[in-house]
Amino acid sequence: MNFTLHLTERCNLDCTYCVHEKKNSDMTEDIVYKACDLAFSKGSFAGICFFGGEPLLRKDLIYKAFDYCDMLSEKTGKEVRYKMTTNGTLLDEEFIRKAKEKNLEIGMSFDGTAQDICRRYADGRGTQKELEHIAKILLREMPLSYAMLTLSPDAVGKFSESVEYLYSLGFRRVTATIAYGKRVCWTSEKLAVLEKELRKTALFYARIFAEGKRFFLSPFDAKIRECISGYNPSERCHLGYRQMPVSTEGRLYACTQFIGDENYCFGDVFSGIDTAKQTEVAKKSREPVECKECGLKNRCTNSCGCLNRLETGNENTVSPVQCAYERMLIEIADELGEELFSKYPEQFRKRYYSK
Ligand code: SF4
Ligand code: SF4
Repeated sequence: MNFTLHLTERCNLDCTYCVHEKKNSDMTEDIVYKACDLAFSKGSFAGICFFGGEPLLRKDLIYKAFDYCDMLSEKTGKEVRYKMTTNGTLLDEEFIRKAKEKNLEIGMSFDGTAQDICRRYADGRGTQKELEHIAKILLREMPLSYAMLTLSPDAVGKFSESVEYLYSLGFRRVTATIAYGKRVCWTSEKLAVLEKELRKTALFYARIFAEGKRFFLSPFDAKIRECISGYNPSERCHLGYRQMPVSTEGRLYACTQFIGDENYCFGDVFSGIDTAKQTEVAKKSREPVECKECGLKNRCTNSCGCLNRLETGNENTVSPVQCAYERMLIEIADELGEELFSKYPEQFRKRYYSK
């Protein structure tokens, strides 16, 4: 099972769409160790994701977790799989060397050419140039690292350009999602630009595909795969069944968005997972009423309780913005999939029918 360790609630950036409530709170060494113990006690491998705030503000805790997990791995014979989500500004060569040694999968939040509009320091300085520099080093050492692009309404016109830019830097895996939450406002005009940008990005994706090059872009790849193999519920997080966040105080929750809400607290790293509470919360999760008759419901992220709660305050209610985005994305991805299949059937099979 995977545990997401919120090493700190602090962050050195002040992104325009950030939904994270920053506090002056860090994990203690003891909580890190207890969380690792818990990860090793569940399932056939231990999954540890370093998260924040900005996790690299506590590199020391990451190094300690590595040493401790080495010891647990040797003792239990279990494999440990590491991940980290970072804003990238504190990555350096020394850490990258260590990450490579430990096979730590790094996801770097990077909005491409929209970076300086959205992802800035509190004094307004942008971060694109420094991220460009560190991304090149990261990709040289760890070419499978991926960029995580968040699309804000303020920079929506830069989406396709940003994807191309990240590709030109050397990223071969890019995840992309739109920004949600109270700090952003998706008007119908912005959604129309979003649709145009998604179509432009689909053209770029098709061009790369035609050249026989490898490039993973999460929105299209996920929707095309889901169209072929059907919706796979096990690939979703399911409110703490596959992925469980650990707060800086060591408490376990259904999802990152629920941290601090005792109704969704599933115990702590000291006493373990409260499975009765977990079952009780799972029972409350149901298909949104507005989706019952929708033909797209098996291909839509309407079941993400975390996202629903962020947008509407209720984990079982989907927001109109999410619904509009899903509709346009599924339509564009289907058109793209059909085009790729008709032009390059063999390549298509290899790419989307394989694991
Ligand atoms: S890097 Fe992440 S946590 Fe920090 S301000 Fe930006 S979105 Fe928020
Ligand atoms: S497209 Fe809209 S109505 Fe249909 S399942 Fe998704 S969120 Fe629900």
